[in-house]
Amino acid sequence: MTIRTRFAPSPTGYLHIGGVRTALYNWLFARKHGGQFILRIDDTDRQRNVEEALRPILDGLRWLGIDWDEGPEVGGPLGPYYQSQRVDRYRDAVERLVASGGAYYDYAAAEEIQAERAEAERQKRTFRYSRRFMAETVADRRRFEAEGRRAVVRLKMPGEGKLIIDDAIRGRVEFDWANEQDHVVQRADGSFLYHLANVVDDRDFQITHVIRAEEHLSNTPRQAFIIETLGYERPAYAHLPFVAEPGSHTKLSKRKLNKYLKDRDFAELLERGRKIAARIGHPLEADAFNPVIVDFYRSVGFLPEAIVNYLALLGWALDDKTEHFSRPELIAAFSLARVNKAPASFDPRKLMAFQERHFHALSPERKVELVVPFLEKAGLVQSPPSNERKKYIENVTAAAGDRIKVAGDILDSDDFFQADDRLEYDEKAVEKNLGKEEALELLTKLRDRLATFEPFTPDALEAMLREFVETERIKIGQLIHPLRVALTGKSIGFGLFDTLAILGRERCLRRIERALAAAGKTS
Ligand code: GLU
Repeated sequence: MTIRTRFAPSPTGYLHIGGVRTALYNWLFARKHGGQFILRIDDTDRQRNVEEALRPILDGLRWLGIDWDEGPEVGGPLGPYYQSQRVDRYRDAVERLVASGGAYYDYAAAEEIQAERAEAERQKRTFRYSRRFMAETVADRRRFEAEGRRAVVRLKMPGEGKLIIDDAIRGRVEFDWANEQDHVVQRADGSFLYHLANVVDDRDFQITHVIRAEEHLSNTPRQAFIIETLGYERPAYAHLPFVAEPGSHTKLSKRKLNKYLKDRDFAELLERGRKIAARIGHPLEADAFNPVIVDFYRSVGFLPEAIVNYLALLGWALDDKTEHFSRPELIAAFSLARVNKAPASFDPRKLMAFQERHFHALSPERKVELVVPFLEKAGLVQSPPSNERKKYIENVTAAAGDRIKVAGDILDSDDFFQADDRLEYDEKAVEKNLGKEEALELLTKLRDRLATFEPFTPDALEAMLREFVETERIKIGQLIHPLRVALTGKSIGFGLFDTLAILGRERCLRRIERALAAAGKTS
């Protein structure tokens, strides 16, 4: 048997962290077993612009490397893969359900059902519809229709006995049929409900394993009933625990940003992203700019492999120690049996740790490839950069080292990319470090020394500066701070000797000159 799994998002305009974890587990399971992963679009609740609302979902999945074998944009032999284009299949299934006695036309008005429900509540008993307006014959239908009533189609649920589902994650789950309502499968306007469409599509697409969010567990009985009645084979089920909020067991939601900002790590993550986004002109207010949504990570330069590694462990573990997995390792190691039953909390600090580790392991060339788009978007390098410029970017990236945790962090080193005569100075840093006459005198002396100093390498420069400090009988800080501000406009940055060497003699001199002139003017 070829294993076939599916991810079935509704076109909502964004890819939620919880949703993408579901997609990932389906994908890992299919890839592990040499099976197929299908992408189906659940657009039964018609939207105005499905394509537009789908774009971030498809882009997000592709970015994460979660590729689908059949579905939108790749096609496949069993399409169409959009529910809105499959209504003939649903109509056919409903007709067969009715013909086999598994469903019926019901002519009750909404208020009539409501009245029955209220009565059951008053009597403190479980509500079950009386089937008072069930049409069993054509004559019944005519009679109800003559009264001006319109029919929905309802499932004729068993009402007694038990359903047993063997869930790959939760084990044996029992449901009492007595607790199940006669659910509607087709509305009065002729449209079909998701439960029906879901079952028909899973069957048409030959899905063997339904791996989905735990909130669908309660939908399983009605689906199992449809499956049974239509004579289909039941797929295997695996209901995943939901992804919970940082530090709590409530489901993670994109709407509770303000609440999550009380979590320091979450707030830091968002802040890092906002800083980067502001510099590249990415819309900060956009709905998707939120760490609960995958787009956030893509727009600020996270690594897809880090996100995939982190999400894989959000509810699954190989053992109690292995944390870092490459994609092939994940595929080899993944199993449904080791998915947790309990919800896993989204932990921004841990996600950051995965990101750092994966980023750190990249080759210098790959880092350059990743940071270049940010420099381009911020207008700091020409697009595409020359080879010489790339080498320069590589030097800056290497010197910045662990300061760059996500690709967009390169913009913290923007001073290296600004033209010397347009370098922006941090006012406070200037005031504090270039405000005193003696600092300016030291810088003037150092400038003269740098003008002829050879070789202009970090080690040689360090030795020279240390000697300079000794000769001048000053503390190293008295030189380093003013020098850094003169060279970069800021009071913080990475190693000063690297900074000097990367900028090179000419630019260092120009920058010191400019700082001296500016400080001279203001003092
Ligand atoms: N479209 C459904 C959802 O968004 C899919 C449910 C299922 O996987 O059966 O959750």
